[in-house]
Amino acid sequence: MDRREFFKQSAFGAAAAGLALSGLGSLQGCRPSSGSDYAPYSMKPARGGEGALRLSFEPYELELRHTFTVSGNSRKSTPGVQVRLDYEGFTGYGEASMPPYLGQSVQSVCSFLERIDLSSFTDPFLMDDILDYIDSLSEGDTAAKAAVDIALHDLVGKMLASPWYRIWGLNPSKAPLTTFTIGIDTPEIVKQKTLECASQFRILKIKVGTPSDWEMIRAIREVTSLPLAVDANQGWKDCRMALDEIFWLKEQGVVMVEQPMGKDRPDENAWITERSPLPIFADEAVQRLRDIPSVKGAYHGINIKLMKCTGMREAWKMLNYARAEGMKVMIGCMTETSCAVSAAAQLSPAVDFADLDGNLLISNDLFSGVTVQDGRLCLGEGSGIGVTPL
Ligand code: MG
Repeated sequence: MDRREFFKQSAFGAAAAGLALSGLGSLQGCRPSSGSDYAPYSMKPARGGEGALRLSFEPYELELRHTFTVSGNSRKSTPGVQVRLDYEGFTGYGEASMPPYLGQSVQSVCSFLERIDLSSFTDPFLMDDILDYIDSLSEGDTAAKAAVDIALHDLVGKMLASPWYRIWGLNPSKAPLTTFTIGIDTPEIVKQKTLECASQFRILKIKVGTPSDWEMIRAIREVTSLPLAVDANQGWKDCRMALDEIFWLKEQGVVMVEQPMGKDRPDENAWITERSPLPIFADEAVQRLRDIPSVKGAYHGINIKLMKCTGMREAWKMLNYARAEGMKVMIGCMTETSCAVSAAAQLSPAVDFADLDGNLLISNDLFSGVTVQDGRLCLGEGSGIGVTPL
């Protein structure tokens, strides 16, 4: 079975189930996509027989349409690991994406996934039990945990024949606009990228945090009047200068600011938040549910990402906790296929801002799922996380 078959097999429904265990075994020695420099990982035939949850996984390198630069680093591809969970004729898909700053790698994700033994779990609806066990295996490994969490949600949603936004009681017609992200670049390239996407989106997200911010924003304003979100990715170093820039950005049609200063400088971020004319969101400063109390008061809102917070279960808890604390919420993503992006999109009707464009930044997507129509997320009717292997 080749990689394409791995992802397509579930499209044949119950017929695939009988093949799953033997088929996965035949994937021993399958290799990651070309150009990657990590060791090949064999597909791990899952433990447990009939009636057990069976987990398998495979590295998959995501190729970017354009070199992507944010404050701190620049890259042309992003490593990922695709995960699959089979149970009695149903298949759930999940994914781990590991941008460099998360400190996780294909090796660490695969090592974590190899430690998982689901053979004692015979009821996928006991999601809390299963995900508590996954979370207990290590302190970190959030992307690897998210991959399993997404696959389990996809599986259970399919068994219930319902998308997760419906299980959560969310109205898909309230799905928000999504931003489309433009990385740091020369004014000419930024202008060109803006022109390429301005007709499809109704809000753009601009990466800032370098001395060229003003030049970039002015270049964008030469070609579009769309509202802008900005993300400094901890790049601003002086809170007074940052606040001055935020006032100027407001005059330029910017509507929100993400992670102005370092995550380890809560007092300065709080100083900015207290005075800012725009809402300030924490991204790098908040990873999981337990981090929310520490950012309350220092930011107006939080950016929830599945790869940071271990997946959909914790993302839903974070959303509700933040709301109870009177905070704003945005949902973001890494560079991911439509698998993880569609999973995140299930929560999107409940957020203030969505930044779910990771699948649009790559040239080798493996799934169809959530789409963007007239700039707005369109969730569709598909069960689980709503994806179909391409
Ligand atoms: Mg961010």
